[in-house]
Amino acid sequence: MLFPSTYLERKSAVLGDLNDNGDGSSVRSPSLAEVSQTIDSPVSPPDGVLEPNETPLPVTNSVALPNNQRPQDIATVRIGKAQFHPVLLRDACMCSKCVDPYSTQKNFQTPEIPTHIKVRAIETLANGDIHIKWENDIPGFGDDHVSIFPSGSLDARQRLKNKNSMVRDRTREVRHLPWDATRMKKELQFIDFHDYMRSDKSLLQASSLLLRQGLLIIRGVPESEKSVEDIALRIGSIRDSFYGRTWDVKSVPNAKNVAYTAQFLGLHMDLLYMANPPGFQLLHCLKSTAKGGASLFADAFKAAEGLSDKHRAILENTPVAYQYQNAGEYYYHTHPVIEVDSSMAGRPVITNINYAPPFQANYLLPKTPDIAEVAGFLEAFETFTHRVENEDHLLEYRLQEGECVIFNNRRILHGRTQFDAIGGERWLKGAYVDSDVVRSRFRALGKEVPLRVLEQDHDAQFVFEREVEEAKRESPDDDILARGVAG
Ligand SMILES: [Zn+2]
Repeated sequence: MLFPSTYLERKSAVLGDLNDNGDGSSVRSPSLAEVSQTIDSPVSPPDGVLEPNETPLPVTNSVALPNNQRPQDIATVRIGKAQFHPVLLRDACMCSKCVDPYSTQKNFQTPEIPTHIKVRAIETLANGDIHIKWENDIPGFGDDHVSIFPSGSLDARQRLKNKNSMVRDRTREVRHLPWDATRMKKELQFIDFHDYMRSDKSLLQASSLLLRQGLLIIRGVPESEKSVEDIALRIGSIRDSFYGRTWDVKSVPNAKNVAYTAQFLGLHMDLLYMANPPGFQLLHCLKSTAKGGASLFADAFKAAEGLSDKHRAILENTPVAYQYQNAGEYYYHTHPVIEVDSSMAGRPVITNINYAPPFQANYLLPKTPDIAEVAGFLEAFETFTHRVENEDHLLEYRLQEGECVIFNNRRILHGRTQFDAIGGERWLKGAYVDSDVVRSRFRALGKEVPLRVLEQDHDAQFVFEREVEEAKRESPDDDILARGVAG
């Protein structure tokens, strides 16, 4: 057998391999004849996705010339109330010929689909699955190729509910709950370490809370330097950095980084001098006998949401530089203060905040814009700083030994009050986990659970409230959510 030599030959050989079993027989998708009696019936819409009184609409394909095609020549394919571009519908095929069942990777490329592709036959089976046969399909896909769309996956109304839907990222459907200090004092959630480690329901609730509120605390964590790693690995892989796979925050002489000293540490985010700062941060409290050293948290989404349109636009469009140049490392990156994604329902949604005054580089505005532009930026930046550092936004929480806080490093600012390093010990062990890892865990665990259950079910969202109450009763003298530095 000759191996193909060019890139294109190699690529087309993949499809050839799919059709050829090596023994002369060929792999093929089930034909419509095998699953239905109506293979040659005229093209008609699936009745399973129509409203009771809705008149079935025929699938219309206008005559489209491949070489002289205008967009208006392409008829959309109507299925129920939804309309699809024929190329995108073909592109979404998940059959075993199009998507490798083992690797789950696509076996064809979108531009290979002829723009004049048409639906030849469409039908709905008794179980609601929709089968589509094609005219002018991708070369190499024969007449026996049938696209199979699971029940409800093409129905716009079902799409948000149906776990089989192909068009969804459920983490984007999770509503952010911006919080201020008053709200978070009531709603801060505590999760038992053993529940978190053993129960998938508990882990799903934890990942849901991290997406919704961006902050939670694991309690009853074993006193081990390995514990923070265990908690991180339960979500997924750990994000390594030059600080190490896990790292210590404690007072050491000649600290290389301001976080390692005993002084007050202002609100900030970690590793903004990187292109992709870690999405989530874990801090496990191993020792807390020093006076002071309470953790500070503030929801930067809440602060950003109250800005004027003018200030917000400036902060979305002005790059701010961050750097870390020390001990043989030289990291540098710029980010705007506010990152938005406007693709969701046409309304801009804040996806990340970038704010870390201790790590700002000395070239705040690398493009040296004009004086008025600088003045406008400084005003907007000052307004944001005042809002985010406002006492109303600031949650002060003194981590107890055996607690591990997890928070969104792209949304929740963290800092620390001054502590007395002479009088006692303060030792936190930290780790990072990327946003993708948290989102993957949430999607994988939550695909069977309707969002409204996670959002509205009292049991689901506030299942840990009871534990807060119990903890408060157990140690009434320890005002765990008190403002003000202990001692
Ligand atoms: Zn297919």
